[in-house]
Amino acid sequence: MFEKVFIEHKVKDSQYTLNILKKVKTKKICFIDSIDDIWGRAKKPYLQKRQSLNLFIGKKNGMLVKEAPDAYGLGNEKHFYYVHAYNCIYECQYCYLQGYFNTPDIVLYVNHDEIIKQMQQKVDIYKTAWFHAGEYSDSLALSHYTNELEAYFEFFKKNTQAKLELRTKSVNTKLLETLKPLKNIYVSFSLSSHQGAKLYDNKCPSIKARIKSLSKLFKLGYNIGIHFDPIVYSDNFEQEYKEVISELSNQIELNKIQYFSIGVVRYTQDVYKEVQQNYPKSQISIGPYVKSFDGKIRYNRPMRNWIMNKIRQLLIDKGARNEVIYLCME
Ligand code: SF4
Repeated sequence: MFEKVFIEHKVKDSQYTLNILKKVKTKKICFIDSIDDIWGRAKKPYLQKRQSLNLFIGKKNGMLVKEAPDAYGLGNEKHFYYVHAYNCIYECQYCYLQGYFNTPDIVLYVNHDEIIKQMQQKVDIYKTAWFHAGEYSDSLALSHYTNELEAYFEFFKKNTQAKLELRTKSVNTKLLETLKPLKNIYVSFSLSSHQGAKLYDNKCPSIKARIKSLSKLFKLGYNIGIHFDPIVYSDNFEQEYKEVISELSNQIELNKIQYFSIGVVRYTQDVYKEVQQNYPKSQISIGPYVKSFDGKIRYNRPMRNWIMNKIRQLLIDKGARNEVIYLCME
């Protein structure tokens, strides 16, 4: 999958690095002083990831655990995300990473012990808090390479008042299946209509496969969350989402799902420019969008509210609890 692997000298003997190297099939390995000297220094077009993708393995410095923006998650608790990877093997057309970084090359940070230390500091201050993995990547897609989940499970076993969300579109659940589910760990899947996923979720597992995986984890005892986000409008969206919600409810009673988020497609101006350049013929570039109160490009507010209320009602009709449905980034 990776053309070249760049490894920082300081992490070359880390167990996490050695584990990744065991799985990565490449003969081209370069040792470097710092990822920052190379990664993203020259612009590499996003879609070049289709032909050549490099992997960087290193140690992240500075703030490893950051406060999440408002309306990021459920409830009034503090929400944080931690940074353990940049970029993703999938290629969703609306992905904000395409305008966020200068390169699609993947970075895996292996200093998980330091991330966990910073999470402990947050818990010591705030007592209860949510931690989200996968703000800049998919939480599970490469988890069989990175092998860090066990260490995080240990932390959450000791800190029962803290909660972890692993957010994914992947069906790579093998590692999770070997671990003991914890009450404070939530695996959340991003879903959309079958039609939307086929059009926009390039290289991602199908919706059918994602529902199968989340149902398997639910049966093993995992807490499951669902993100219907981002919803892309189509003339038939209500019927298309009705079908997918019905299929989901055939697998799990919706009142057993811990939370649902509903969000509508949105971009910063930089990301939108990239999206238009990368996918000029896709509906995802066309809209109809306006510039919103926060500078983001999205549907106008009445249209957003109308779409989100339709989805909320479809969920409630199939048994979801209204109090666990929240609107994301609104
Ligand atoms: S799964 Fe998430 S991180 Fe990966 S390409 Fe899609 S939107 Fe981006």
